[in-house]
Amino acid sequence: MRKGAITQVAVLKAIAEYDELGRSEFLAKYHFSEARSYLLLHEGREYDSKAIAGVAHRWGQGRALLPEEFSGGKDHAAAWLKRAGFEVKSVKNPDWARDEIILACHLVMTNGWKGLDANDPRVLELSGLLQLMPIHAEADRNEKFRNPNGVARKTFDIATRHPDYRGKPTNGGALDVEVLHEFLARPAEMTEVAQLIRQGITAGDLQTLPLDDDEDLDDYSAPEGRLLMSRHKRRERNKGLRKKKIAAVLRQGGTLACEACGFDFEKVYGDRGSGYIECHHVVPLHEAGEGRTKLSDLALICANCHRMIHRRAPWPTPADLRAAIGHRRAPQSLAGTNVVQQRSKALERSAAPEERQ
Ligand SMILES: [Zn+2]
Ligand SMILES: [Zn+2]
Repeated sequence: MRKGAITQVAVLKAIAEYDELGRSEFLAKYHFSEARSYLLLHEGREYDSKAIAGVAHRWGQGRALLPEEFSGGKDHAAAWLKRAGFEVKSVKNPDWARDEIILACHLVMTNGWKGLDANDPRVLELSGLLQLMPIHAEADRNEKFRNPNGVARKTFDIATRHPDYRGKPTNGGALDVEVLHEFLARPAEMTEVAQLIRQGITAGDLQTLPLDDDEDLDDYSAPEGRLLMSRHKRRERNKGLRKKKIAAVLRQGGTLACEACGFDFEKVYGDRGSGYIECHHVVPLHEAGEGRTKLSDLALICANCHRMIHRRAPWPTPADLRAAIGHRRAPQSLAGTNVVQQRSKALERSAAPEERQ
């Protein structure tokens, strides 16, 4: 059986059976529960998308799938149904992304850390702006996506988490609290970040920015949010700039070792690593804005250090990071070859007992 290989005809048969039995009997017969995230739309009616997708496997695939054999989401049921030509809509709106929370938090801050009502013009404006942001795909949104009520609720979620708030906090997640604390710790910087995101969307500059799915943007907590981070990475990935930077460093007699930890890809990986190093744009996003990147704004950084720099705001400079590593390790062990030699010795030691098993 090939999971997900369902035809339009098979889906229509499942829909027909659903109509005939009625929702609860259909769900009970195939052991599905009510859809929590996606609904299938067909001829003006709504269906539990996961159950339909599972049952559609009866035709052509031999048997209906059991609920535990697949997910109802974008990776499975919703995607299969769309591929078979059906319309699927999201029941629940996606969680707020950091970029969105940054904008909401900024609004709460300018309102003296108080929540705002749904009919406040600033809430209406923010609601419109959030709907323009390219973070969540249309298919994942429903008609209430970031509507004024939702935005107002979010402002209260944030405001009631403020340390000075004496009452009981409303709902809201860990990310709300995280962003709130970033605003409290670095209000000027976070305000600039909020303004840059705003400008970017209004001007259409961030709005058309493709968000590369393959990239582990979620892995990076991307303090400035995904949109600015994505722009930052796009600049860093500019091949022409990287080439120029590398050429300039070599011309001045330098090496391609990491400016923070000294790791040298060629020394460690030989030919395979020759000429490889990442470029990090050292001017923080919120200061860089639009404009040209100067070679002096770029630092040569190994992949590990690059990730560590971006991991948490405020981003350390390569020198800060070097100092931080230096506190932990003797300076001579920072050269890539030494690190690797030590590591392979350690591996030999640790591998030995397993080999005997
Ligand atoms: Zn490094
Ligand atoms: Zn970077």
